[in-house]
Amino acid sequence: MNQSILEVKGLKTSFFTDDGEVPAVDGVDFSVGEGEILGIVGESGCGKSVTSLSIMGLLPSPPGKIVGGSISFKGEDISHAKESRMRKLRGNDIAMIFQEPMTSLNPVFTIGDQLMEAIRLHNRLPKKELAARAAELLKMVGLPRAKELLKEYPHELSGGMRQRVMIAMAMSCNPKVLIADEPTTALDVTIQAQILDLMLKLNRETHTAIILITHDLGVVAQVCKRVVVMYAGKVVEEGDVKDIFNHPKHPYTEGLIRSIPDLHSKKDKLYTIKGSVPRPGSIEKGCLFAPRCEYVMDKCRTDSPELVGDSHKSRCFLHQVQE
Ligand code: SF4
Repeated sequence: MNQSILEVKGLKTSFFTDDGEVPAVDGVDFSVGEGEILGIVGESGCGKSVTSLSIMGLLPSPPGKIVGGSISFKGEDISHAKESRMRKLRGNDIAMIFQEPMTSLNPVFTIGDQLMEAIRLHNRLPKKELAARAAELLKMVGLPRAKELLKEYPHELSGGMRQRVMIAMAMSCNPKVLIADEPTTALDVTIQAQILDLMLKLNRETHTAIILITHDLGVVAQVCKRVVVMYAGKVVEEGDVKDIFNHPKHPYTEGLIRSIPDLHSKKDKLYTIKGSVPRPGSIEKGCLFAPRCEYVMDKCRTDSPELVGDSHKSRCFLHQVQE
């Protein structure tokens, strides 16, 4: 990994509700190197989106709050930075794109207005130059007829085009880190592949580090070198993507890999991991995956495994017993 640009250490984020504190992220550690593409994978409710909102300073607060750990950007702890500092970071250094671009684009303004506003926030150019820069960004993300597109409204564009516009807006500040939260989930498979290709191209050309958050290990395999697997607010496995695909150490990762549809398989049923992610805080002791694990042992129901290993880490007694 190149020199790390963003480091998350022991991050704990909770939501404070009428029923008390609900821990959504519980001691998460990972780092992203300059120009690296890191995947964060897990089912809904595993804490991956809360982790990204914590990094961006966009947690709805209240009820959300970072209650422990640190988030360092280029060595500066930003976990409790003031909103004015976070606004600056979001405009210049760390950008984010979301799953559904329609909810992020304002339907009553043209693409040009919104793109130029995003550029103007960190670069006070004259209007003519703003328009030229906006057209340049649209070309960069592979949108043809850039000049006409600037005059169109979000509803006139397809889902894939809207996501490209969102990526153009996010890239308008030349960010050092781009967080992409399920950027292809709402798109058709062919468009998905184009958006992933675009992200790879931008990473190559601009050296922007990308944190790709997804529930889909197949997507991770296409674009990432390293992956962090999250389950119930914790990292359960981390390492090189190829290594993890070939030799998963955690039963949850193994289940995710087995759940990827295989066109050549003769089985008439797709594999699914039984059960669902537990409600945060609902399991008081033991391994959080124990109720769903095919390999559960007595010890798993009483003790909590630690994340151990060097370049390939996992949080599972099974593996630790075997070593
Ligand atoms: Fe399964 Fe036990 Fe490993 Fe947890 S620690 S994943 S329950 S084998």
